[in-house]
Amino acid sequence: MTWRDVDDYYTGLLLDEDPALDAALEANAEAGLPAIDVSPAQGKMLHLLARAIGARRILEVGTLGGYSTIWLARAVQPEGSVVTCEIDPHHARVAAANIARAGLADTVDVRVGPAVDTLAGLTGPFDLAFVDADKASNAEYFAHALRLSRPGGVIVVDNVVRGGRVVEEASTDAAVVGTRRFARALAAEERVDATVIQTVGSKGHDGFALAVVR
Ligand code: SAM
Repeated sequence: MTWRDVDDYYTGLLLDEDPALDAALEANAEAGLPAIDVSPAQGKMLHLLARAIGARRILEVGTLGGYSTIWLARAVQPEGSVVTCEIDPHHARVAAANIARAGLADTVDVRVGPAVDTLAGLTGPFDLAFVDADKASNAEYFAHALRLSRPGGVIVVDNVVRGGRVVEEASTDAAVVGTRRFARALAAEERVDATVIQTVGSKGHDGFALAVVR
């Protein structure tokens, strides 16, 4: 697959060897977690975005094994912090071990439970929010991320293209329906400026929504 080859080419050129991230992916596989983390190139993009805006407080919805969390936490350490929400206690345990191995235990707070409940109990402001959990709830996660963001804050929502299926109006796929509901909320929201960029690569054809809070 050409997309994968190009990802490998640029990842080889632009990303350093990274034992902590490699160990996290190995631990995830050993623990039976699905390989649905962001790609290395996407993780570094999130990291660079956080650094570019001088982020100090980051919110993540959807931890899995903490792969993206590690990328984000490295952008804010040592003074900053990341709160990451995960519903599955097994995923959260694996993530906590991966995060500790990466030397980031003091930077990351893994909150276990349904993200809507965790989010309802949080106070802002956050500089950056990365939404990457169950896609059916993306509109709710976006609303919370917006409530918790500072002016000028950035909200990134992953997997908003779904191999192109997002354009299927009649879809009954909960992820597509949820993504379309989120897309309408994003379009109607006057407090943000937003765009969507499609991505291809080792994770297939998908895309990110990027919103900047006014
Ligand atoms: N951001 C991670 C990364 O790139 O390494 C990948 C996250 S994975 C795509 C989605 C995660 O969201 C899974 O671990 C899943 O258990 C979690 N999740 C699903 N529904 C959730 C919910 N209602 N509340 C919190 N987490 C949820």
